[in-house]
Amino acid sequence: MQEKKVLITIFGGTGDLAQRKLYPSLFRLYQKGHLKDQFAVIGTARRPWSNEKYREVILASIANLASSEEQAVTFASHFYYQSHDVNDTNHYATLKNLADELDREYELDGNRLFYLAMSPTFFGTIVNHLKSQGMLTSEGYHRVIIEKPFGTDFATAEALNKEITNVFDESEIYRIDHYLGKEMIQSISAVRFANMLFEAMWNNRYIDNVQINLAENLGVEERGGYYDQSGALKDMVQNHILQVLALLAMDPPAAFNEAEIRSEKIKALRAIRLYDEEEVAKNFVRGQYVEGKIAGRKYQGYKEEENVNPDSRTETFVAGRFYIDNFRWSGVPFYVRTGKRMTEKGTRINIVFKSVPINLFSHSFDEEKQNLQKPEPNVLTIYIQPTEGFSLSLNGKEVGNNFNLLPVKLDYRNSAEIIANTPEAYEKLILDSLNGDGTNFTHWQEVAQSWKIVDQIRKAWDNDTTSEIPTYAAGTMGPDEAFHLIAEDGFEWVWQPDNWYRERGEL
Ligand code: NAD
Repeated sequence: MQEKKVLITIFGGTGDLAQRKLYPSLFRLYQKGHLKDQFAVIGTARRPWSNEKYREVILASIANLASSEEQAVTFASHFYYQSHDVNDTNHYATLKNLADELDREYELDGNRLFYLAMSPTFFGTIVNHLKSQGMLTSEGYHRVIIEKPFGTDFATAEALNKEITNVFDESEIYRIDHYLGKEMIQSISAVRFANMLFEAMWNNRYIDNVQINLAENLGVEERGGYYDQSGALKDMVQNHILQVLALLAMDPPAAFNEAEIRSEKIKALRAIRLYDEEEVAKNFVRGQYVEGKIAGRKYQGYKEEENVNPDSRTETFVAGRFYIDNFRWSGVPFYVRTGKRMTEKGTRINIVFKSVPINLFSHSFDEEKQNLQKPEPNVLTIYIQPTEGFSLSLNGKEVGNNFNLLPVKLDYRNSAEIIANTPEAYEKLILDSLNGDGTNFTHWQEVAQSWKIVDQIRKAWDNDTTSEIPTYAAGTMGPDEAFHLIAEDGFEWVWQPDNWYRERGEL
């Protein structure tokens, strides 16, 4: 394996993301030999830290990962701190000098990766200064990783994109959606394109509906202030859910590479129906959690959370129905559901196949259940997190003299050991950016189309300032309206973890 020669500059080097995710990810890349001797990291933020203080923070953030103290200390010695206010033009001169010096010392060939791990309000300022203050004149490559959110609607995203593309070429921009770094999200393509069984049936002739769930059991925690301005639609649907949907719905790419995958994803996103206000009301449901109790624990409602407006109309839950108007998917609803304070944390996708065209068993009678036999639809489930794997439900025959159908599940889950050794999303994504591979990042055209889809929904909700926002008790899977939405079409949510608690009287 060839080590990467690179200078990584992290804006927001004292922040939460840097400490919890970026430093441990860089350390894992170091342990695996992707980073070795010829790399250096500059951390910048406003605090007046010294290199020593910064290295102590690095050591603390990798404390459980290092196999020896020597390894940890050698790794940390590659880190340099530069106090810097991103609004202050003069500070960039100091930063440039340090960058040039480290470039020479570590023989980095002028390769530079900038990681913007700061509030999005600064993204434009930073990239403009990188150019104007000569940080991008070195010999090697210049790439920028941009954290989410990329804009707050299409107009702001477009303005931000203009600022960034004035400085960096699209091929040098790596917009993070950390979901795309997850092992099982990447596995969607393996399941689809490496199995004749599925790809042959991956269309409206055989699939009844698709369900994408991104449930969180946490509330807004200390992010109340941010969340109240954003809400579930912008926080989860615009990025993660539409990205997953694009991966599920796209046509098979001509080759498994960045350009081909991207072009198919963009086509899929463009085929998603844009709703007018009336269609939004019919196809989308929002919700807000109120006080609830699950398994003996009581949780407060959203409006009681810290830093949340007590009259807030921000949604903490979204369920909706998308249509993809192309030959493959015409008529197949793609249901999406996401929210906070739901029963369980879990990201899972259910592909619900159509029932057999004729029920040959309709005349057999299940004595015990006193009902006629009806085959269950086959369901392919992809478990993204916290468990990873997939299952396929099939119908068999129950052993015995009667002819009773027996639904069975072929189930595969990654073991705890595999999960423990799964690279962190950030580790995979940083390595991709060092390799110049943008497959698992979002292209501007994807971001633009996702905002156009979401803006229509947001606009309809914002225009409606009077109707009650449906509520759901903390610990449940959303308001009744979300169940009606899918029941209207004669379907139901495949994943209902709340039933387990209800049956035991714990909800
Ligand atoms: P944070 O508030 O913990 O860190 C912000 C950093 O910016 C700090 O280092 C601070 O010193 C620095 N900073 C602020 N103003 C500055 C200025 N004028 N000049 C120089 N430095 C300044 O934020 P965070 O949670 O680390 O998030 C950073 C980015 O990552 C955001 O875009 C966020 O949306 C995104 N993100 C964070 C997480 C997470 O888990 N924390 C997850 C996903 C995305």
